[in-house]
Amino acid sequence: MTDFSCATLGCAVPVDDDHEYVLGDYEGPVARWCPGCGDHSILTSVEKLLVAEQLKPEQTMFVSGIGCSSRFPHYLKTYGFHGVHGRALPVATGIKLHRPDLNVFVVMGDGDCCSIGAAHWVHAIRYNMNMVALLLDNSIYGLTKKQTSPTTPQGFKTNTQPFGSFLPPLNPLTTMLGTTNVSFVAQTAEWIPAHLYATLRAAYRHRGLAFVRILQRCPMYTVSLYERAVKDPSLTELLVHDDGVLTPELDAIYRERRAHDPADINAARQLADDTDRIRLGVFFRDERRPCYDEIRRPTKITASERIALLDKELDRYAV
Ligand code: SF4
Repeated sequence: MTDFSCATLGCAVPVDDDHEYVLGDYEGPVARWCPGCGDHSILTSVEKLLVAEQLKPEQTMFVSGIGCSSRFPHYLKTYGFHGVHGRALPVATGIKLHRPDLNVFVVMGDGDCCSIGAAHWVHAIRYNMNMVALLLDNSIYGLTKKQTSPTTPQGFKTNTQPFGSFLPPLNPLTTMLGTTNVSFVAQTAEWIPAHLYATLRAAYRHRGLAFVRILQRCPMYTVSLYERAVKDPSLTELLVHDDGVLTPELDAIYRERRAHDPADINAARQLADDTDRIRLGVFFRDERRPCYDEIRRPTKITASERIALLDKELDRYAV
């Protein structure tokens, strides 16, 4: 019997080690995203994963930055930290370093992760901590009303570039695949729930930083982006492999398939670089890469030892 209470924080209060968690143990308040926003579908799949993996709410942490998608932690009864723009990854890194027993999920938008948070993004990939990072990519700054983001397609009209986005978009997949010590890169789409869920499950079970880019519809500002792909499954190619994501339930609908071994980083880079079609699946996976949280466990010291260390440090700067 575990006597644990966090009622003051509004979290679920599991009291029994044999307790079987159900959806209600994770569901928070009704989400306030726009009707039809892809974030709703992602939240549903994440809740399904939490139930399937029976993750204890009091040992699960969702960390986000700023943006529409970053409201994620509010809608779950796990712990959560809705933080500072672009800083979700360093916050999550600190949490995981000091509480390696927690299941840590990071939720970011494209502006959040790929613009203001880009430096943290690259280093988080190199640190390869045991976490799941979700990039909810709707190709726009939604919360600030249709501003160009790093992944906005060239020529797409926004409120900051009304004649069309000037530059070609940043490719999050090739960025990650070009970063030292990358260990898991996948792409999925929120309008294909079976693929989304299978990808989240593979990411959760990966050892190291599992980075998933989720293509997300924003019916408010980028409605035209994925309209054709949603209606015509032949525009989407699924990468299939035993070490990747397999979704036999989609066989009859998504017939465009390509066998891709996620161990092959050169093939992964080529596939990610070719943006002529939407490709979903695990591009790369290598569980042998070093994880910073496994190499550098924090040293356990007492409170008085910590104060003595701080005093010593302050003495160094005393004039
Ligand atoms: Fe979703 Fe777009 Fe509305 Fe934001 S603005 S909640 S991304 S539909």
